[in-house]
Amino acid sequence: MYDVIVCGAGIEGSWIARQVAAEGKRILLLEQFSLPHGHGSSAGKSRIIRCSYDKLNYARMMPEAFKMWTELEKEQAANLLVRCPLVTISTKERLKQLSTNLSFLSISHEHITAAEVSDRFPGLKSPNRNGVVELSAGVMKADKCLNAVQASFASLGGVLHDCEKVLHVQPISESHIKVMTNAATYDCKCVILACGPWINKVLEPLDLNIPIKVTQINSMYWKAKNPQVYKPENGFPVIICDSDLGFHFYSTPVLEYPEHMKETPDNDFVIDHHPKHENIIIAGGFSGHGYKLAPVVGKIVCSLALGRKPEYPVNKFALSRFNNASRL
Ligand SMILES: Cc1cc2nc3c(=O)[nH]c(=O)nc-3n(C[C@H](O)[C@H](O)[C@H](O)COP(=O)(O)OP(=O)(O)OC[C@H]3O[C@@H](n4cnc5c(N)ncnc54)[C@H](O)[C@@H]3O)c2cc1C
Repeated sequence: MYDVIVCGAGIEGSWIARQVAAEGKRILLLEQFSLPHGHGSSAGKSRIIRCSYDKLNYARMMPEAFKMWTELEKEQAANLLVRCPLVTISTKERLKQLSTNLSFLSISHEHITAAEVSDRFPGLKSPNRNGVVELSAGVMKADKCLNAVQASFASLGGVLHDCEKVLHVQPISESHIKVMTNAATYDCKCVILACGPWINKVLEPLDLNIPIKVTQINSMYWKAKNPQVYKPENGFPVIICDSDLGFHFYSTPVLEYPEHMKETPDNDFVIDHHPKHENIIIAGGFSGHGYKLAPVVGKIVCSLALGRKPEYPVNKFALSRFNNASRL
């Protein structure tokens, strides 16, 4: 009998589970995919961290959130946060509200005119709107953060099962719930559903539907002409900008793609034996043109696997064409 079962090991479920484990409870964290995975909301390499909220209830939670992230960094000896300023470019009303909330929390911030934006942050222009600069906001290394929370959870005695999908949550009594997964049935006193975009699927048999609209967020990357200008350690900020078109966008400094990861060297396939394990064959990097060639690729890879000479030259697809710094 577990005290608590948490369904969903995204950043929310993982932190929830960690906190429960820190209370000395018997806890199981269930994740449907193999970890780490790229399907949920928590996937990716970077997230903005800031106190600048125009809703005071969120702003008030942030000083403690900063503190807990910093404590996790120390506990796990991991570098999770990169400090840099945040510029919010918005309407007069919103900036006023942000500033009021930041002052309430004694968070250092400054007002900046549209004209001053590019003086202060070369590489950034605000055509018509002023901004508020929160001096010590930052970027979180999202994948490392998630990993660190889950490691902390495990170190506190929590049990994490990935590749285990919760299929049904069956309340038995006020202190007993059965949780059926694709692998087992568990008993617990309490279940926490932290299923991100999947939440209504798990809730449906429990006769509940919450008004959550799942949307896809477009993430875009630009290659910086002068990366030095856009680096957080050189003072380039994270940005939140309200547009006149009724939407807003966020931006982070150059961070996700360090120098050696910025380029892939070519658009050619990768078909080769693993350099250390002859019986592992890699077939990847098919870019935007592999679909139609799949039958022939199938032949080539099959021949490699069976120790035969491939039907077509494969030297152009060899791993040896990459240098050591390549991700491959
Ligand atoms: C592109 C993008 C940019 C963002 N930028 C920021 C930012 O700058 N700053 C910020 O603070 N926030 C940002 N957010 C928001 C933030 O990332 C999300 O709010 C947060 O990750 C939500 O986490 P979650 O744990 O609720 O959901 P998820 O990460 O989706 O986790 C839910 C987990 O539940 C699992 N699950 C679902 N159903 C089951 C089941 N039946 N059985 C077992 N497991 C199940 C899923 O596989 C998943 O792993 C951004 C989000 C996106 C998408």
